[in-house]
This record gives sequence, structure tokens and C-alpha cells, in this order.
Amino acid sequence: MVSKNTILIVDDEEVIKKALMDVLDKDYDVISAANGKEALDTLEERHGDIALIVLDLIMPIMDGFEFLAEFRKNDAYDNIPIIVATSNNDDDSELKCLEYGVWDFVMKPYNPLLLQFRIKNAMDKSRMIMAEKDSVTGLYTKVKFYREVRQLLDEEPDQTFAFMRFDIDRFKMINNFYGIKEGDKILKSIAKELRRIATAFDKILFGRLENDVFAICLPYKEENIELVSNALQLHVKKVNKDYNIKVSCGVYVITDRNMDVSEMYDRAFLAAKNCKGKYVQTVSYYDESMIESMRKEQSIINEVNRAIEEEQFVVYLQPKINLVTERSYGAEALVRWKHPERGMISPGEFIPVYEKNGIIGRLDQYMWRHVCMLLRKWMDEGIEPNPVSVNVSRVNIYNPHLIKILKNLITEFKIPAHLLNLEITESAFMEDQDLIMKKMSELHKLGFKIMMDDFGSGYSSLNILKDMEVDYLKVDMKFLQQDQGFNGKGEKVLTSVIRMAKWLNMPSIVEGVETLSQVDFLKCIGAEYAQGFYFAKPMPVEEYEKFVAKERENKCVSPVSENEVIVNELWNTRSNVSLLFDILDTPIAIYEYRKSKVELLRTNKKYDEVINFDEDIDDEEYKRRLSEQIDLLMDAFETIDKGDIPNPIEYELTEDVWYQITVKLMGRRSDTNIMMVTFTNISQYK
Ligand code: C2E
Ligand code: MG
Ligand code: MG
Repeated sequence: MVSKNTILIVDDEEVIKKALMDVLDKDYDVISAANGKEALDTLEERHGDIALIVLDLIMPIMDGFEFLAEFRKNDAYDNIPIIVATSNNDDDSELKCLEYGVWDFVMKPYNPLLLQFRIKNAMDKSRMIMAEKDSVTGLYTKVKFYREVRQLLDEEPDQTFAFMRFDIDRFKMINNFYGIKEGDKILKSIAKELRRIATAFDKILFGRLENDVFAICLPYKEENIELVSNALQLHVKKVNKDYNIKVSCGVYVITDRNMDVSEMYDRAFLAAKNCKGKYVQTVSYYDESMIESMRKEQSIINEVNRAIEEEQFVVYLQPKINLVTERSYGAEALVRWKHPERGMISPGEFIPVYEKNGIIGRLDQYMWRHVCMLLRKWMDEGIEPNPVSVNVSRVNIYNPHLIKILKNLITEFKIPAHLLNLEITESAFMEDQDLIMKKMSELHKLGFKIMMDDFGSGYSSLNILKDMEVDYLKVDMKFLQQDQGFNGKGEKVLTSVIRMAKWLNMPSIVEGVETLSQVDFLKCIGAEYAQGFYFAKPMPVEEYEKFVAKERENKCVSPVSENEVIVNELWNTRSNVSLLFDILDTPIAIYEYRKSKVELLRTNKKYDEVINFDEDIDDEEYKRRLSEQIDLLMDAFETIDKGDIPNPIEYELTEDVWYQITVKLMGRRSDTNIMMVTFTNISQYK
């Protein structure tokens, strides 16, 4: 803690102020105010810095007593000691001052030596009190609470106690949403509730240890714990009704009384983690297995240096498949730990641990380097490699040297930047958007391609897609599994996400693809790439090299028909087919027809110009025209679905503007038909 060192002198006499400043400013920062009003203004702005006030009683505008009355009204000033300067020995004034909580007096004119001593004493005493009393809630601080717990345990050797630690889930968010003041209000009201709860117990201690973390030491009985945790949970729910506040309590039943109180805290904290983020669970008890898993975490952390030095981490590659050609187009590099004793350890075990303490930053860079080495090796062998993507974790995004590190890597290995793709997890995009946009634009300038990883796993918002210039969108198939049983709602959402990305010129890569039916579905909705066990699991480099070599041998294995290639290419807004589609002079619309349901998927520029979107029409008219056309098309779609050829349709768009509409089947997968609808202007023949 930085110790506060500013003294505020409140006096109207310039000469006295000046003399005091000369004496004090060797040891303190000294500021001054000419009357009570000025002093209150200064306090409002700087009360956090002010360690002590020397106050004159007789002043114009607002005198010392009026000042004291106002001063006492503000809790935030509770811990600032005041020394009052009196010019005569007036008992009444002194008594009044003491009632206002004034700490000490000095006689005017000042004796500099005496004043210095009194200031030092007052400051020492206030520091001691501050160390024991939390300034926001007035509860014990950590130091004081631990000391009191120790004493209680020593005094009551026959009583079993529990150490309970609790905090508020996502308290930081509450502070962000509602402001620090509201946050403080919640903390204060919890303190009040704790004081209320405490009246039910004979022996109980409680304190605020830091931020939103509180601790209680109370006689252990399951009912006691339940009573306290229920009361707390009920209370916080009432404090702020808009926000669903939840507490997480961890309990260590003190079986080993000799251990340090801080260790008891650690155990209660470990337990508390068990109910973090769980909707209903508010209490969790410590048990020995928790220590075991913490030890495991610790050993994972301790071993990292050696593992990096000895290159125990290896690159596995998982191919990404182009859904049109069903051939691989590059891969994602995923780390695997070949532990000398424990064998292969999966990232699930160590990545979260490394993420927690920032080690992940080093591991990332290790992976980037190894992937660059690999790309260099392939290029040296005369192979034209496809891009490999690497994961960039949050710490590296905030690493001020990120750009330099990546630039140095591609320079050192002489690799074109577009071969090293960067996967940045979606949640990172939600934090500091300005910063991430700046970094992305620098990376783009260097030629790197950026993928938004795990889209849909966090607080994703479609809105973010339009603001963030990412080159590819990675969506996890898990996205679908999350709401199984909702009648395919997830499928609809995935469909919209992928279509939306397409409109934004952002190809999608769907991860976690495990089955043929998923592949079919993804093709239907126009996803460009897939990655998943269905095609290939993450594999060692040699295996990947064989995989790619084999693909190169079988040049024409594509199982898709030509028509389907065209359909699929159409989804890729950057493909040649797509470009051609847009420059054709005939209005064209692509529809999906599935079990009597129709959806307009894409239109070309000409269509947008002349059929539905021309500038003169409003929303209503647009809808009217579209539904009119769909009514006309329905028959044709049904005919095609049955395998017959439909008749051309004549259609009057606006007065005397006639089109002939032709419908063709472009592709079909299970029960979904993709239809091409062309419009030919026949007005002149009418
Ligand atoms: P991620 O980046 O989203 O990687 C995809 C994960 O999905 C990989 O898990 C991959 O093995 C798994 N996966 C691929 N296809 C399928 C499938 O069909 N079904 C299922 N169920 N899973 C599939 P892995 O390798 O265990 O990695 C897990 C996560 O760990 C990664 O998720 C990534 O966030 C992180 N990670 C892995 N390697 C690195 C790395 O080098 N650096 C960083 N920062 N993170 C890494
Ligand atoms: Mg990834
Ligand atoms: Mg992913």
C-alpha cells in the first residue's frame, strides 16, 4: 500500500499557513485551504491522498465547527485524523470538538516541535487503525481478522470452528455496469447483514479481506453454515433486483487448528471455486481431493520451464477441409505434451492452468516458432505449403511486443505472412475492442490472416462480426449441441451465423464436425470449411505430411457433381463463380426449397437493381413483391421436387413490366433443393 503523506492545513491567516508549511514540508506534502468551505472542496477531490488535517476554528465563510459538522457526514472521511488549533484554553470548544471526533489539539501560536510530534503520533495511530478496520465497510481487515481467528481458536480449544470464505460472482461486472458507488453500496450492505447474522451466535468473527471477499469464522454445525449462506444469498438478491447477484461460499471445517489461518483461507477458497458460476450452488466444502488437484496444477506449472527447454511440447496438426472439394486446405496447430513420465497429456489438462497464470504466452510463442520451422522445412523441400493456423491467447493479444514477435518470426524463417494464420478466441474480442482492432489492423498490414476462434461459445454477438475485420470465422459444432431438444433451433442459428458471415465476406470454418449428416448439413447451409474427427483427428507432423501427400496423388477424388461445385462456389463470395454470378446481366435469385418451405438465399447485382431492391420501393412493397413471387414459384418448386420439369412463368412486376421466370434445380442434398430462378424481361413482346 502506498502510504498517504499529504497534510491539509485549514487556516485563514496567510502568515501562519506559510510558517506551518515551512516546518512541515520537509516530511510531508502540504496543501492548504483558507476556510471550511474550501477545505470541503479539496477533500471531495483529494480525500484519498489526505493523511491528516490541521484545522483552525475561527475562520470567515465557514468556521471550524461548521466544517466539522459537514466532515462527519461523509463516511469516506472516517479515517482522516484532525488536529485542531486553539488560541485560548476554551474547554467548551474542546468538548465540542471531541464530540466531533477530533483527535488532538495544539495551542496557537504553534510550537513547531510540538506540532510535529503530535502529527506523527496521530498519523501512526491512524495507520494502525486503518490496518485493522476496513474503510468501506468498517469490518476487520485481513490482518486483524486473521489475528482474531488465531486468538479465538486458542481460547476455545474444545469447540470445532468453520472458516467460511465468500465472494460475489462476477463482482467486477457489477462494478462496471453500475459503477463503483453501487459496488460499494453492496459491500456495505453485506457488512450490515453480517452484523445482523452475528447476533445469532455467541462466538463469531467476520471481516472483509479484499475487494468483494469476506470471511467468517464460526462454530461448526451444518445448520450454522446453511443459515449463514442462505441469509447472505437472500440478502444480496434483495440489494440489487436488476442483476442476478450470487454469492459463492467455500467452507473449511477447521480440523487442523495448528495450520496458519492463511492456509485455512486457501482451503476455503479452493472449495469456493467449486460453486463459482453454478446457478444454484452457493456452498461448497473443502475436501482433500481439492488439495490433490491443486498440487497437480502446481506441478504442471513447475515443470513448464524444463518442458520447454527439452521440447516436450509437440505440434499436432488437424487438417481443415474445403467442403466443396473435400480436400484439405491447411491445418490448425494444436499443442500436445509428451511428458517423459506421464505420457501424452492433452491440452485440456494444462492449457487452463497456463492461461490462469500467463504462462500460456510463452507456450504460444513456442508453438508459433515450431510452426514457422515446419513451414520453412516444407518450403525447403519444394512443397508449396497451405497455411497453418496457430492459437493466440489473450495474454499475447495484450502483449505490447506481439506484432514485433510475429514479424521477427516470419522474417527469421522467411515465410510469407499469409501462411501463418492467427486464431484469436472470440471472448478476447469482447474485452478491449479498440485495442484489438488496432492490433488486427497492424497484423493485416503485415499480411497475416486472422480467424475468430470459438465463435458462439461465449458472449458472442453477431454485431461484433460487422465491426471486427476478421478474415475467417470459426464456429464450433458444440454450438448446436448446446440446445439439443429445441427442435433444431441451434441449426437455424448456425445457418444464420454462416450466412451472415458470408454477406460480410467472411468464410466460415466449422469445427468439431464428427458425422456425415453434419457434413451434409454444413454443405447445405454453405459453410466453406470444416475441421473435425469426421475428416481427421489432430495428428503428428509426419502423419499430416503423409495425409497431404496422399491427397496430392489422388488429384480427382472429389465426390461432388459439377452442379454442386457451382452451388458451393456460389456461397464463397470471393470465388470466380460468385464473381461471374454478380456480373451476369440477367437477374438471378437462388432459393432453398425444403419440405414446402422456401427461403431466399442469394441474389445477384442485376436482380437487386431491377427486381426487388430498386431504390424507389419501401419495405412493405419489397415484402409484397417477394411473397407474390414466392406464390408463383411454389408450383414450380414442387414440380421440380417431384422430378418433373416446370413450365416457365409469366410475371408482371409493375405496370407493363413483364418478366418470364425460369426455375432450375442447381443441387440437391437429402430433402433440400437449391433452385436457381432467372428473370427475363419480355415486356416488348407483350
Ligand atoms: P481450439 O483452438 O478450439 O481447438 C479445437 C479443439 O477441438 C482441439 O482440442 C481439437 O482436438 C478438438 N477437436 C477437433 N475436432 C474435433 C471433433 O470432431 N470433435 C471434438 N469433440 N473435438 C474436436 P485440443 O487439441 O484438446 O485443444 C483444446 C483447446 O486448447 C483448443 O481449442 C485451444 O483453445 C487450446 N489449445 C490447443 N493448442 C494450443 C496452443 O498451442 N496454444 C493455445 N493458446 N491454445 C491451444
Ligand atoms: Mg483454435
Ligand atoms: Mg476453436
